[in-house]
Formats: sequence, structure tokens, C-alpha cells
Amino acid sequence: MPRDARRGGSGLTGATVARVQGIPIRVHWTLAIGLPFFAWIMASAYFGLDAQGWAWGAGLAVLLFVSVVAHELAHSLVALRLGTHISEIILLPIGGASIMTDPPRDARREFLIAVVGPITSLLLGAAFLAVSFSSGVGLVNPRSIANFPAFVLTAGYLNVTLGVFNLLPAFPMDGGRVLRAALSKRLGLVRATRVAAGIGRGMALLMGATALLVGNLFLILIAVFVWAGAQTEERSVVMSASLDGVHLEDLMAREPATVAPTASVQEALDIMLASKHLALPVVEGGHPVGLLRAADVAAIPANDRWLRTAGDVALRPIATKRPEEDAASAMAEVLRTGLVAIVDGAGRLLGVVTPTDILRVVQLKTT
Ligand code: ZN
Repeated sequence: MPRDARRGGSGLTGATVARVQGIPIRVHWTLAIGLPFFAWIMASAYFGLDAQGWAWGAGLAVLLFVSVVAHELAHSLVALRLGTHISEIILLPIGGASIMTDPPRDARREFLIAVVGPITSLLLGAAFLAVSFSSGVGLVNPRSIANFPAFVLTAGYLNVTLGVFNLLPAFPMDGGRVLRAALSKRLGLVRATRVAAGIGRGMALLMGATALLVGNLFLILIAVFVWAGAQTEERSVVMSASLDGVHLEDLMAREPATVAPTASVQEALDIMLASKHLALPVVEGGHPVGLLRAADVAAIPANDRWLRTAGDVALRPIATKRPEEDAASAMAEVLRTGLVAIVDGAGRLLGVVTPTDILRVVQLKTT
């Protein structure tokens, strides 16, 4: 199913149901609604809405869920083998996603990781269809046959659909990634991503229109996911490509505005307003010890801002980097937290990098 290349975890809330080779498999809470809903769809389509029909429908819902896990595990295990770390597999009603901490940037790895998911689904589908055919059932409407053959046949149909659907060139879905891998040999990563993302957005529009015509809620959600995913990934690739060869010392702001841990939150807010920064490093004896963001300040009632101190409120540890490190290595952290502190060998603050510093370089390099 769609794969997401955001760094770190998915940020989605869910329960861990299993671990395979250290990869947590997490189930998003919306599946508590999604699975019974799918069981109902299957029961009413093929088995009838009596107790037995519901049981078969629920069985198919669980089987589809397991099939999606197999599809994602194929992505994840090949990624692991090729040296790409997977932080988790998350399962949603619209499919699964293997979250990579460091998405592959070379065509061969991307191709192999992307293509193995749909292949797994197609093989699973072929296996179910083979069982179905060998027991004398052809490609018929499952509604016209008894429950068990209908179950096996539908399991086959579902997995084949899963495989074929994911091979659509709807970047960032698997087929779109395969397409980008093929294009990037000729066009380079940035242009290949631009083309694949453009086609992905076109596919998202087609899916959205189809979904509205047939009234399919899942397809609408997938269309939105594809559209947003194409946008986000294109931006992130263009950004990290334009940061190629740029070091943090090239873009950091020297002598940045800082706040002492003993200063009041109100004083920190005044410094933010004066410096027009949305985040400040909390600095003690020249060392950054915390990060205070405008959002943290906003959460404190106005009356308490003179009473609470910056050090008190800035609980989050601050990310630090050395000036000679690649700018791209700090990009995700800067965009996530709003500020990364640049420190010398002794941990003393030399400067800060904020999203504005990164966006400025990206803009200059892409014009
Ligand atoms: Zn996939």
C-alpha cells in the first residue's frame, strides 16, 4: 500500500500488535471502526447478513488485514536487507505504510523496495485463486457459490486488486516509486521526482473524481493521501537536493537571540517579538540547554508569564549539530522543531538554524 517516506515515526497513534525483526507493527485506532465496517461490506456483498454471513465477512476482513501486513513486511524486510532502517509499520483503514527513517535516494534500492510489495500481493492472490480453481470454482461472482469457496475466491480477488492498485503510477504509491526509480536513471532524482509527483497528482484527481462518481469513501481518502504525499515528497526532495554540499555553518545565524533559563516567560516572549523568532535556545553559561517555542509560551496563561521561567517551560531537549555537518542532515529536525543549535566541540552555542535559513538557501538555489 502507500508508503510514506517521512523521517522518524509516523506520528500516528496506535497500538503495537507485533514485532518482526525489531520492526513494530502498529494498528491505528481507526481500524477499530474500519475492520467491522469492512466485515459488514463483505458480509452484505457475498455472504448475507445473518450470523454466519457476518462470521465469513469478519474472516475476510481479518484476512485482508493480514494480507496488507504481508505486503508491508515485504517492503520492510527488503528495505532492511538493503540497509534502510524501518521505524515502524502502521496499519490504517486505507492500507499500510512502512515508515523509513532514511528513505533510499538511489534508483535501484527504491525500485526493489517498492516493487516487492505489489509482487507479494499478486503472489498471494495467485495462490488463493489457484486453490479456488483447483477446487473447480472459476472466475465467478462469489455471491453465486457456497461460503468457503466464496471466501477463498474473494481472498484471491482482494490480493490481486491490492497488487494491481498499488502498481498504479500514483506517486508516492508503489507504482509511482517504481516509475520514479526508472525515470531517475535518465533525469536525475529531482526532475524524476517532479515528473512522478506531477503524474501522481493527476492520478489523485482521477481517483478523487472516480470516488465521487461511485461514492467510495476509501478511494477519496486514498486520493487525498496521494495528492498530499506527492506534494510533500516533491518538496522534501527538492529541498535536500538544493542543500547538497551546503554545510550548517554556511546558513546558520551567528550571535542568535537567546534566553536565560532564569528569565521569565514574558521576557522570553519579548525577546521573540524583538528578534522575530518563533523559537529560542535557552542558554546557560554559553551552553544551549533547552528549546522554548512560541507555542510553549502561548500555552501559558498571560497572568502566569511573569511567574514561570523560561527554563521551567522549555522542557524539550534542544537538538544540536556541529557547524561542519551537512545542512541536509538537520533539515527534518529544523522543520519539525523550528530550531537546531549549532555548537562547538565543547558544546558552546555558535549559532542557530531555523526554517527561514533553510528556505532562503533552497529558494536561492532553485531560482
Ligand atoms: Zn506497498
